[in-house]
Amino acid sequence: MIPAKAYAALDEKSPLQPYSFERRSIGSHDVQVKILFCGVCHSDIHQARNEWGGSIYPMVPGHEIIGEVLATGSEVSKFAIGDLVGVGVMVDSCGTCKNCSRDMEQYCEEGMTGTYNAIERDGKTIAQGGYSSVIVVKEHYVLSISRKLDPAAAAPLLCAGITTYSPLKFANVQPGQKVAVVGLGGLGHMGVKFAVSFGADVTVISTSPSKEADAVRLGAHHFLLSTDKEAMKKHNSHFDVILDTVSADHDYTEYLDLLDLEGKLLIVGLPSKEPSLSPFSLITKRRSIIGSMIGGINETQEMLDYCADKNIVSDVEVIPMQYINEAYERMVRSDVKYRFVIDLSTL
Ligand code: NAP
Ligand code: ZN
Repeated sequence: MIPAKAYAALDEKSPLQPYSFERRSIGSHDVQVKILFCGVCHSDIHQARNEWGGSIYPMVPGHEIIGEVLATGSEVSKFAIGDLVGVGVMVDSCGTCKNCSRDMEQYCEEGMTGTYNAIERDGKTIAQGGYSSVIVVKEHYVLSISRKLDPAAAAPLLCAGITTYSPLKFANVQPGQKVAVVGLGGLGHMGVKFAVSFGADVTVISTSPSKEADAVRLGAHHFLLSTDKEAMKKHNSHFDVILDTVSADHDYTEYLDLLDLEGKLLIVGLPSKEPSLSPFSLITKRRSIIGSMIGGINETQEMLDYCADKNIVSDVEVIPMQYINEAYERMVRSDVKYRFVIDLSTL
C-alpha cells in the first residue's frame, strides 16, 4: 500500500481537515502519480457539503489533478517515470458497454467511477481525489499534459476545461455564431475562452457587475448583467447557443427566452433544486435543452492538445492546502478569479 497525505471532509458540516490514508499498490495497468496541483471545482463543494445527497465520507475531494509519474505497472505503455500527466473527474468505467465503446466513458451504462465520492470497481474501496499527495490510476484514465502549459494553470482543464469544450463542440459552434456563457466562474471563464477560440461572437451573462472588465479581457465581445431586466429583454431571441454554468438554483426559462430560432441551451451547472420550465419557451422557437457531463478520455486528450496548441489555460489563484475552507467560502460568494488551484507541496 502507498501512504497518502490529504485534506478530507469527514461529514457534511465540518471544515475540511488534514487526513491520512493509503492508496492501493500499483497493479500492472496502473500509474502512480505524485500530485503537484489540484483545481478546486464547485462540484467539490456540492459533494463535501452533501448538496446532491448520498455523499460518502471521509471524502478527499479534487478532480482537476496535475502531477508527475512516479512509477508505472509492468503493462503500462503510454507513460514513463517523470511524465507530466493529468487525472480528471473519472478513474474507471466498465470499458465495454455501448457508450464506453464509443469513447464516452463518462456516460458508461454501469456508471463511471468518479475520482472521489465513489466506490471503486472492487466494490469496497472509497475512491479519494486530488487534495492529496499521491494517486494511483489505471493508465486509460490518465491524460498526457504538454510541458508547454503551466502545470498549475492547466489543472482546471481536467474538469472546467473539458466540461465546457465538449458541449460547445457538440453544439457545433461556428465562427460568427452568437454564443452566451452564463456565470463567470471556473467553468464559465473556460467556456468564454473556448467559444472565442472557435470564432464565436461571445457574450458573458453574469450577476456580478464587477466582472465586466475581466469578461472583455478574457476575450468576450459583450457583457450582459442578468439582474438588468430591461437589457435582458432586449436580447430576447438573440443567441444561437447559451452555455449555463451556474452553480446555484435559478430560472432556466429566463435564458431559454434569449435563444433564437432552434437555439440550444447547454446545461452544465448542477444546482440541487429541480428547475421548472415553460414548454411555451421551448416550442415557440423550436429551442432545445442539452445536458452535458465532462467528456470522454479521447475528447479530453483532444482538448488538452488543442489547449497546448492555442496556449489556452485557466486564470488561477494558487493557494496553499490550508486555505481550502476560505476558498470554498469565497467560491460560494462568486469571489474567485477564476479558479483556485491548490499547490500540494504545501500539504
Ligand atoms: P464557480 O466557479 O463557483 O462559478 C459559478 C458561477 O455561477 C459564479 O461565479 C457566478 O457567476 C454564477 N452564480 C452563482 N450564483 C448564482 C446565482 N444565484 N444566479 C446566477 N448565477 C450565479 O463554479 P464552477 O466550478 O464553475 O461550477 C459551476 C457548476 O457546474 C457547479 O454546479 C458544478 O457542480 C457544475 N459542474 C458540472 C460539470 C458537468 O460535468 N456538467 C462539471 C463540473 C462542474 P457570476 O458572478 O458571473 O454571476
Ligand atoms: Zn469539476
